[in-house]
Amino acid sequence: MPELPEVETFKRQIVNYFQGMTVKTVKSSGKVKSTGKMKSTGKMNIAKNDSILKDFSGDSLESVSRYGKYLIITFNSTSLIFVFHLGMSGSFKLNRTEISVQDQLNDIFKHTHFTFEFENGITLNFVDPRRFGSINVIHKDQLERYILSNLGPDALNRNYNAQSLRLSLNRTSSDIKTALMNQKTVAGLGNIYANEILYASSISPFKKSNMLNDNEIERLVDNSKLILKKAVSCRGSTLSDKGYTDLFGEHGSFQKFHRVYNKENSDCSRCNEKIQKAMISNRSTYFCSSCQIQ
Ligand SMILES: [Zn+2]
Repeated sequence: MPELPEVETFKRQIVNYFQGMTVKTVKSSGKVKSTGKMKSTGKMNIAKNDSILKDFSGDSLESVSRYGKYLIITFNSTSLIFVFHLGMSGSFKLNRTEISVQDQLNDIFKHTHFTFEFENGITLNFVDPRRFGSINVIHKDQLERYILSNLGPDALNRNYNAQSLRLSLNRTSSDIKTALMNQKTVAGLGNIYANEILYASSISPFKKSNMLNDNEIERLVDNSKLILKKAVSCRGSTLSDKGYTDLFGEHGSFQKFHRVYNKENSDCSRCNEKIQKAMISNRSTYFCSSCQIQ
């Protein structure tokens, strides 16, 4: 599942490549979730051939931003913005030419559900084989109300700090791993990075959130930022299933720095005990029971 580093990679690559380019057409397969209707929730459903999509023709891509795992694209002349969530398997892919028949058969483009075609013929495609992703079009000034108000601080923002994490963890008695993956605690962490951050912090994933001491909370915040920044610089993690590749179809490289994720029965890099695997909230959890303290 794409987490903060993978979404940040798409953000940077889309800005670098597409900023200022003029949109020719916007096409939707109509098969990806877009929640609610404009009237009641401020969000629009994007059906296939929806007339709203025609409003973007002739406009140019102004900027791309990210909050947690959400990617937001804004255009120059309209107050409407696109809010993407990549779900389990979503990604963006660039295509330099009109998608050929061969490419449509190719795995990379087979599951394209949304396409921005630019005047120079280059396309930006939202590809989502499992279709757990979502696309919403909302007005810029509704971002806070409909998206951000449901999320905690972004994991790379200074608002995510020991004080804010302490306040949030004091409110729950769930295990710390589940709390870290809750987007209301901190926005951007998923299973891979939560496993790695807890290992780097020497904290058991089973430890109760409201039992962490100040030092442990500081370690969690510091390691979150260190690991996420390093992962962004590596363009994210591409696992053996190749579920994530970047805008250009290239692999990320942070998987080389994983120390617990998917490493059941490997030696712990700190104490040489075997890394164990357990399920927490239905997600695979990897840890060293010897040096990650309860
Ligand atoms: Zn260990």
